[in-house]
Amino acid sequence: MYIIMIASECAPAAKVGGLADVVYGLSKNLEMRGNTVEIILPKYDCLRNDLIENPTLCHKNLNVPWNNGSIVCSVWRGTINSRTCFFVDPRSPENFFARGAIYGCRDDGMRFAFFCKAALEFLFKSGKRPDIIHCHDWHSGLTPVLFKEFYKSQGMEKTRICLTVHNFRHQGIMGAELLRATGLNRPEYFFRKDKMADIANPGVLNFLKSAIVYSDYVVAVSPRYAWEAMHTDQGCGLNRLLLDNQQKFCGILNGIDYDVWNPETDCLIPFRYNAGIINDKYRNKDALREKLWLKNDFKPVIAVIGRLDMQKGIHLIKHALSYAPLHGAQFVLLGTSPDQALMRDFKALQKQYANHPDCRIELSFNEELAHLIYAGADMILVPSMFEPCGLTQIIALKYGTVPVVRETGGLVNTVFDRDYSDKPKELRNGYSFRDSDTCAIESALYRALDLWYNNPHEFQTLMLNGMCYDFSWNISGGKYQEIYTRLTAEERNVTV
Ligand code: ADP
Repeated sequence: MYIIMIASECAPAAKVGGLADVVYGLSKNLEMRGNTVEIILPKYDCLRNDLIENPTLCHKNLNVPWNNGSIVCSVWRGTINSRTCFFVDPRSPENFFARGAIYGCRDDGMRFAFFCKAALEFLFKSGKRPDIIHCHDWHSGLTPVLFKEFYKSQGMEKTRICLTVHNFRHQGIMGAELLRATGLNRPEYFFRKDKMADIANPGVLNFLKSAIVYSDYVVAVSPRYAWEAMHTDQGCGLNRLLLDNQQKFCGILNGIDYDVWNPETDCLIPFRYNAGIINDKYRNKDALREKLWLKNDFKPVIAVIGRLDMQKGIHLIKHALSYAPLHGAQFVLLGTSPDQALMRDFKALQKQYANHPDCRIELSFNEELAHLIYAGADMILVPSMFEPCGLTQIIALKYGTVPVVRETGGLVNTVFDRDYSDKPKELRNGYSFRDSDTCAIESALYRALDLWYNNPHEFQTLMLNGMCYDFSWNISGGKYQEIYTRLTAEERNVTV
């Protein structure tokens, strides 16, 4: 099958969070299954160009209709770890993708609307006729609309559209100017509730909602999150729409790429190990301490890695930071945020703990350090308020780092409490808590620290249980393949 991914991120060259890992890992797995996969991305000025091989200009003057005129783009072809990617580079005074960051601009709606239009125009003009166009989140959410309204009837009747939603919280909202810019026009048609109009506020257009309406299939990134989206406030206003579209909606757990995330082969950690030589993990712990100037002591290291966003349970992360050193643990945080207020907050904490022997806060995006932390820490903390899938706990499991998580979204599908899970003992792999108050997180941390100090053998069993899990793309990639097969078979049935 020929599959085109249209996405705003792809690891490791354009990465903000888990979306990047998924676009890369899923594409790789689909190729291993015999499909041809190509990824279309914006050519941001902040791309890690050092990670893109053989960049070549493949389309010099792609004319993209825009605002009653057009914007000329260059399209570059290159590979990211053998994945074929196309990078769209518009030449216009708006400098859509030369902002020094992937997200966080006031005109993000317009930037990504243009990206969707340019990606489809590129497919159309270069004669690419994929079986599947796969979009991700609201950033590529205008693609299904533009495709079905303009391009499908221009020789792409057989192409089907799949959408993966990584986060229902971010939906992309714009007004009538979107219709003018993209040439969709006809506000009386698109401002309808069964088209693009936002459900709560029909006076604006909603990218993600439109993408759900127009896509042939919609996937949420874990079974639990799919359920939450239909039945709890996690649907962020889209619950009813999802319930009404259940026949084309499901949850598929994200996988991780074990060629990237594997302590046995990871070239970004100083000492490689596996379940058979688990003691070598502790040499990475020493290396981590040395790197971060933490005291070398007989204590467990609790780590947090992630975007600093209210979604991630900021108040609980801060609580754990003060709790850990008072209860015999060390604490490491690696995170960053486009939110200046949150960054100021954490910079103040960084300063407060600057000389503390047991706490370190790193406020940057640092892939290499992330690998060392996964390998060197004893526990990873994920106290999210909501978590569509969550990759950090899945990565941590592979590194024998015990997750302590709040029971929400994909965390429920991947972490099973040592004391309370109804899974057999050998399948229990961490600790979890339900409520979002400090007592709840303390009780889970207390149980984890207690086991580490008082029953190290059992703690190691928990680590090994986690390392045995297979959260690779093997299973989830197969589920996506099944969806594609069904969609293209439906198409064949219709035309026969
Ligand atoms: P989200 O997609 O909500 O950001 P996930 O847990 O799904 O969260 O994915 C986070 C991914 O981003 C993981 O691969 C994690 O290692 C990585 N990551 C997050 N923050 C950082 C950081 N500051 N430095 C390096 N890697 C990071």
